[in-house]
Amino acid sequence: MPAKVDMDKIVSLCKRRGLIFPSSEIYGGLASCWDYGPMGVELKRNVRDAWWKSIVHERDDVVGLDTSIMMHPGVWAASGHIDSFTDPLVECKSCHLRWRADAIEGQGCPKCGGELTEPRMFNLMFKTSMGPVEEEASTIYLRPETAQGIFVNFDNVITTSRKKLPLGIAQIGKSFRNEITTGNFIFRTREFEHMELEYFVKPGTDEEWLDYWVKERFDWYVKLGVRKENLRLRQHGKDELAHYARDCYDIEYLFPMGWSELEGIANRGDFDLIQHAKYSGRELSYYDAEAGEKYVPYVIEPSAGVDRSVLAFLIDAYDEEEIEGEKRTVLHLHRSLAPVKVAVLPLSRNEKLTPLAKEIFNKLCPSFVTDYDDSQSIGRRYRRQDEIGTPFCVTIDFESLEDKQVTIRERDSLAQIRVPVGELGKILEAKLKGESFDVSPLWATREK
Ligand code: ATP
Repeated sequence: MPAKVDMDKIVSLCKRRGLIFPSSEIYGGLASCWDYGPMGVELKRNVRDAWWKSIVHERDDVVGLDTSIMMHPGVWAASGHIDSFTDPLVECKSCHLRWRADAIEGQGCPKCGGELTEPRMFNLMFKTSMGPVEEEASTIYLRPETAQGIFVNFDNVITTSRKKLPLGIAQIGKSFRNEITTGNFIFRTREFEHMELEYFVKPGTDEEWLDYWVKERFDWYVKLGVRKENLRLRQHGKDELAHYARDCYDIEYLFPMGWSELEGIANRGDFDLIQHAKYSGRELSYYDAEAGEKYVPYVIEPSAGVDRSVLAFLIDAYDEEEIEGEKRTVLHLHRSLAPVKVAVLPLSRNEKLTPLAKEIFNKLCPSFVTDYDDSQSIGRRYRRQDEIGTPFCVTIDFESLEDKQVTIRERDSLAQIRVPVGELGKILEAKLKGESFDVSPLWATREK
């Protein structure tokens, strides 16, 4: 069963509401490049933060790292990327479009049916040169994954972090791949962001840890609101394993174009540390003081895409509902992912309402990402907030001036509760943490 929303609707909502724009749009755009707008940048940051929190901050066996995009070319020789990071490319002899041979069905060109050339292996790494004199400059590559920055720092981290194995090193950052075929919005682009964990374990415990991380990562998406029925696990067949992998699972999501990879979790064995030790001449191993033995750890790698996760969260949250005969589009985003947490909306741009509304905004904005909007009708403003997934709107009306109470409107239930201004911050804080907040004692206080 395909997803309930088609990609065009998501692209159009993202454009309309300032989530994601085509890159260089005023020049006609640049294929498969996208820019995150004011709402998108918040959503993307929230996805990154949720990952970092669950992988690094909420555990004591993982530390973070931020390595450079450009690395010594030897890194890519050792990792196998120069020889093996390739896709089979075919070209149509009539229209000259190029395709990834393993991603097309049938014999002819998917566009015009023309005859295709024999496949040749195409390296996906972007090359550039470093140094001011082009002829003398050395060829370097933009990293196609962040993982190698972690492997080459293994020794630095082990000797400075005073941690024992199992130990994870996590990194979030840009990666670049000169993909033959891009598309499906931000699903496959040439510049994207990785969230990668390399979890170093004692050989022999690797299979258990692979199972552990597959479950952890699957549950992360569910905890952040993705419906279980839209997620599934797929183990790689022996013939499709990457050159470094002993075993691998994909977490797949039911995107509008069908089930596709959202995240890969691989058992990389000791491939990377052994390779880097060989190419760099530096020993990369771990001394287990308790057991009195030295070994090269195995690595379990959950590797996810920030942009692809953003897309899955958007698609899963998207809904069109009919409320009293009117259609509303709403993003039921998890509260921790929503770009704006609270919108402060005076009923109108009346000068009597503005001071209280501004006072409330100023009080809330240090604690939550808060939007202030007093233009157009209140109905249109609710619609805008629904479309960007704002969990709570606070409305200030003329009665508020008298009784110092405001209305909180909940995005999903559309329930409205009236609460004292003085309690607003506390109530919103509890609600944004997912705690239920009983407002009736406040009423009791007020009535006394
Ligand atoms: P694919 O088979 O789709 O090309 P992959 O198996 O090569 O992907 P990995 O190297 O396992 O991908 O990367 C881990 C994750 O990084 C993917 O699950 C995806 O979320 C993200 N990712 C990889 N390539 C891209 C891309 N070109 N654009 C956006 N995200 C990507």
